[in-house]
Amino acid sequence: MNNADKIYTLAVAGVQRLVPYKAGKPIEELERELGLTRIIKLASNENPLGPGKKALAAIQAALPELALYPDGSGFMLKQALAGKYELDESQITLGNGSNEILELVARAFLTPEHEAVFSQHAFAVYPIVTQAVGATAVVVPALNYGHDLDAMLLAVTEKTRLVFIANPNNPTGTLLSQASLERFINALPDTCVCVLDEAYFEFVSCAEPINSIAWLKTHPNLLITRTFSKAYGLAGLRTGYGLSSPQLADILNRVRQPFNNNTLALVAAVAALSDDEHLQQTITVNAQGMRQLTDGFKVLGLEWVPSAGNFVLVDLKQPGLPVYEALLRKGVIVRPVGVYELPNHLRISIGTKAENQLFLEALTDILAHV
Ligand SMILES: *Cc1c(COP(=O)(O)O)cnc(C)c1O
Repeated sequence: MNNADKIYTLAVAGVQRLVPYKAGKPIEELERELGLTRIIKLASNENPLGPGKKALAAIQAALPELALYPDGSGFMLKQALAGKYELDESQITLGNGSNEILELVARAFLTPEHEAVFSQHAFAVYPIVTQAVGATAVVVPALNYGHDLDAMLLAVTEKTRLVFIANPNNPTGTLLSQASLERFINALPDTCVCVLDEAYFEFVSCAEPINSIAWLKTHPNLLITRTFSKAYGLAGLRTGYGLSSPQLADILNRVRQPFNNNTLALVAAVAALSDDEHLQQTITVNAQGMRQLTDGFKVLGLEWVPSAGNFVLVDLKQPGLPVYEALLRKGVIVRPVGVYELPNHLRISIGTKAENQLFLEALTDILAHV
């Protein structure tokens, strides 16, 4: 070991073994690497329509205020969210992306003596936040690519402080029903916090809409997380939130850094919440694009996992990485999911009609030559 490497041995045990989150490849990076000019990114479940007009106007209007610290309490945004969901402001925790809420809850509840339960193929941030605080991850095998709630319940012990559930799940797109989730939450011991990650909540359309917020009244150990990064098209600003009992929110706010939401994020999020037109258009474009991609998969004889989100997991029946790399050379960035134990799949974010078309053409061409 050289002298500089010795520093690794000083880091806490969980961090020494931590494999950092691998994000979707940025467009600029591929431009630099391959010198391509026409690149599309269908890799990070971003909104292909961009931010809405109202959010952009709010950002423009707030630019002269940037010398000042943001409102550390996020008053306006909390008020807007409380109004929308008929909750009290004290039930809301604002995060630098909902990702930060996941980190706050891990820091507030997990120690090396504790366990966090989550599913195989679930969002990659759960193992990271668990390991970073030295806690033990208990990974429950998936059922049909989704959460096996009965098995997850059996995995809960007196050491379990957190259970993470992504609904819809990323990267599989699977959706749990209101009834099955309700049974799970009712059966969960109150010594354990249930983190219900609803990053794709706005895209869910099903006969029986999921109303997880109703459970907050009876479950002080429930934390719902949502975000402005996906349907609202503000991923670059980093803002998300947690909804919970006031007591749980109080705990999260104790470990939150004081100005975790920047001024532009706060004003844009408030404006985005009032921009129903942009949200509806986003949902419509997503539904049309989902149909376009799955129709294309059908033509190619490929299977996919039915998705409730703004992305779809396609089964290539061959290693995904070479296909991912071939797509990169054609200027199409998608997401390999080997780290999710899905080496033969790729996750494709739904783009605009033109982007989806380019992707399908590139994929068709690649599969014809392997
Ligand atoms: C994208 C995503 C998030 C976090 O997004 P933020 O940008 O941090 O709000 C959380 N959970 C899941 C399942 C996601 O896919």
